[in-house]
Amino acid sequence: PLFLEGPIIHGFGRGSRLLGFPTANLDAEKYENGPIIHTLPVGVYDGFCTVFFPEATNLSAASSSDLPESQRESMREHCGTVFKMAMSIGYNPQFNNTLKTAEVHILHKFPCDFYGFYLRVIVLDFLRPMTSFKSLQELKDAIKGDVDKATTALDLPEKKTWGDHPFLINAHIPPVVLQVKTQ
Ligand code: ADP
Ligand code: MG
Repeated sequence: PLFLEGPIIHGFGRGSRLLGFPTANLDAEKYENGPIIHTLPVGVYDGFCTVFFPEATNLSAASSSDLPESQRESMREHCGTVFKMAMSIGYNPQFNNTLKTAEVHILHKFPCDFYGFYLRVIVLDFLRPMTSFKSLQELKDAIKGDVDKATTALDLPEKKTWGDHPFLINAHIPPVVLQVKTQ
């Protein structure tokens, strides 16, 4: 498993508008994520994640000053809760496909967006390599397949226990890279 963490940053906004699958984007170049993400083959992974208020983390950049109180209120019950996720590792077309990005689709319905909140992710298994699709519908179907696969796979006893890991539950536990698993 791999441990990632960082603030949720803006992408192109295509995830929700175009595909119906919003993805919380992590900055692959920041914090400890970069070296890890650079070792990962592009594709789709499953795992668990938690959203945190910025001030709950140890990261020095964390500050809540920009978050509106209404958003904090809406997100309160969703913060610190472990969710299943499906993550895409790919290349960002804005940087000539040279910059790797990590995008996490959380298998949970949120009441609002939560840019600026912090995400902690435990990446478990590789589901499929990145491929190009002939149509938008084919891509949507593939993502739906990834979500179904992740939903089922993460209930397996040997994977489910990762959802109880202190890294996800306590934002002050530092990330530790245990092992790079590449299928
Ligand atoms: P962007 O390109 O800026 O990442 P997206 O269309 O991918 O835009 O939407 C992502 C944003 O949607 C996230 O940053 C988050 O604030 C919000 N969001 C709402 N529900 C979810 C979810 N289930 N999983 C991930 N992000 C979600
Ligand atoms: Mg996104």
